[in-house]
Amino acid sequence: MPKQETFTEEAIVLDRQPWGEFDVKAFLYTKNFGFLEVKVRGAKKLSSKLSAHFEPMNAIELMIIKGKQGDYAASAITRDARRRLKSDWQKIVWAGKLLASVKKYLNQGESDEGIYRIIDDYLNILNKLAGAPEYFYEGLGIASELKLLASLGYSADPSFCQFCSAPFSSANAFQATSGEIICARCRELSGSSAMPVSKENLTNLRLIYESEILFLGKNWRPIEQDITELGKIWKNLLYYHN
Ligand SMILES: [Zn+2]
Repeated sequence: MPKQETFTEEAIVLDRQPWGEFDVKAFLYTKNFGFLEVKVRGAKKLSSKLSAHFEPMNAIELMIIKGKQGDYAASAITRDARRRLKSDWQKIVWAGKLLASVKKYLNQGESDEGIYRIIDDYLNILNKLAGAPEYFYEGLGIASELKLLASLGYSADPSFCQFCSAPFSSANAFQATSGEIICARCRELSGSSAMPVSKENLTNLRLIYESEILFLGKNWRPIEQDITELGKIWKNLLYYHN
């Protein structure tokens, strides 16, 4: 956080909640300072012009004043209200999942421009894309979550067996007890009930970890079955690191 009393910053609104009788507390992910909570004074009053900018999913630019009892917003402009996204309830649900994850895992004030990009890109894709099958939006959501976890240091290495270092064959497995992908032989030897990971999803994982969400939105064409399996890998990874 800068030392001066006032500064401007780009941010994505993650959530908001009432604060006292007239104010609102907004939860933001900012470009330079990561997670940030700011008070929006008078936001609950009907006459408030500031309030509309602090809607979840908005990309905003705001002026923040450091106060003795926390930071508060002095002014704001909306750079993108993502209206098409907000007019589709299914897209709102997907966007909401990622924003909730960010709020849950990144409230320590960690700042990472890569994370800002992941959130911003995913919301932009949801806003722009039309006519793609539903599972594709879900797949991009899972990809965003996997990238988010990876930027916190939690990823499943898809390049070789994490037990014996052998290259992968067509049958591989994700072992929830170690949070790693292992080969079919190690899975048999350990007698573990690890879940299967298809060869296609090793490629998908590599692509997700190496590419930006915008690139995936344009070029990634997974099939529904792979998305279902990827979702399980992500949930297991999350469970293992929690
Ligand atoms: Zn192995």
